[in-house]
Amino acid sequence: MNNAPMQVIIALLLGFKRNGHIFLGLILGILVGCWVPQENFPQVYKILNFAGEAFINIIQMVVLPLVVSAIIIGISNIGDSKQLTKFGSKMLLYYGIITVLAVSIACAVAIILQPGASAKALINQDIAHHIQEYVASAIQYQRENLVQIFMDIIPKNPFEALATGKMIPVIIFTSIFAIALTRAGEISRPLVSLFESIFAATMKVTDWIMYLAAPGVFALTATAVSSFGISVFNNISKYVLAFCIAIALQFFVVYPVMLKVFSKVPVGKLFGAISEAIMVAFGTASSSATLPLTITCCEKRVGISNRVCSFVLPLGATLNMDGTAIMQTIAVIFLTQMYGIELTPLLMVEIAFLAVVASSTSAGIPGAGLITIALVLNGIGLTPEQLVVGFSLLFALERFLDMFRTICNVVSDTVVAAIIADNENELDYELLCGKSIEQKV
Ligand code: ASP
Repeated sequence: MNNAPMQVIIALLLGFKRNGHIFLGLILGILVGCWVPQENFPQVYKILNFAGEAFINIIQMVVLPLVVSAIIIGISNIGDSKQLTKFGSKMLLYYGIITVLAVSIACAVAIILQPGASAKALINQDIAHHIQEYVASAIQYQRENLVQIFMDIIPKNPFEALATGKMIPVIIFTSIFAIALTRAGEISRPLVSLFESIFAATMKVTDWIMYLAAPGVFALTATAVSSFGISVFNNISKYVLAFCIAIALQFFVVYPVMLKVFSKVPVGKLFGAISEAIMVAFGTASSSATLPLTITCCEKRVGISNRVCSFVLPLGATLNMDGTAIMQTIAVIFLTQMYGIELTPLLMVEIAFLAVVASSTSAGIPGAGLITIALVLNGIGLTPEQLVVGFSLLFALERFLDMFRTICNVVSDTVVAAIIADNENELDYELLCGKSIEQKV
């Protein structure tokens, strides 16, 4: 276990080498982004931004049919309700453990590093007044519409939810519908077959889209790097450091330990097998957009059965956001420290709890976590006026941090899928390890 971080790094390097073209896109993106800062080269930035957004749109095109068809075949493959409860409760348990560990680590790191203390001096009332409006309206909305927010997740009109891409109502409706299909018996078979065909076709489209992965990741990374000035980094370096440490601990310690404790899945092999998904998650900063590739990697490289992938991964891409929870916890503690608010143990627990809830209501799209953070702030009674300057600092490097937390969001889904597949004998170890598990252990 001690060498788990090393195994992860080696596996990732090998995976990046295997997907050299995407990795090259990523590195070139960072270099070009540094060379052409947005303020000096607005036209280049526009072109890169256009190319990056086009890539995200193209992958998002398959997300809805994929989520709906995957959940329907996932649930109908599991079959009887006992199995479904077993799968569902395991999934929630592991997702819960991962997120609780994430917020605990985030709290500990933020207390030790005190990222907000040094930022106190930065309070400069002139900056970012447009953000004041943003924060004020987000918090006001959530305060007034808490009941409405929960009502909105009930899919009153599933077609409207589908058309507007509201993932949680879509998932709720599809899951209920899928359970009903399994209960309806033989008569539902043609419809399930139809969804099997839709799933197969969307996976094919995903394969084609992956030819665009290298230029897409290049454009997205270049846009992100070119849009933040390196100077901002100095102002919030401790916040960024705390965030990076917590993400690294989650990645190099929590996931390997979870895999070791709950399964026999070799961590290095798993991370190597999903390296393409990791790079696309980094480039797109969207776990929803990465979902087609996450499913492809898990099925074709890791060897997780379609039964597990199609049930666990679409739900995880929407509900399991441990990277987002880390950011929200550290960001809120940063703000409380910056504004000199006393951080009692009770307040800390409240922040951690609210971050678990807020992160799981975040959509798997870029920037979603910084919107739902208002739920955490509102929950602990902070006012927009208190936050305006601190919030503008969080916005400064938002996209950059989003890229890293999205990696966590995606990887933790695959870790949970691998553990469940291992527990249920749904993992093809020959495919993952290239030899039988008996030989391996
Ligand atoms: N971008 C993240 C994701 O897609 C969500 C967030 O934290 O903003 O997983």
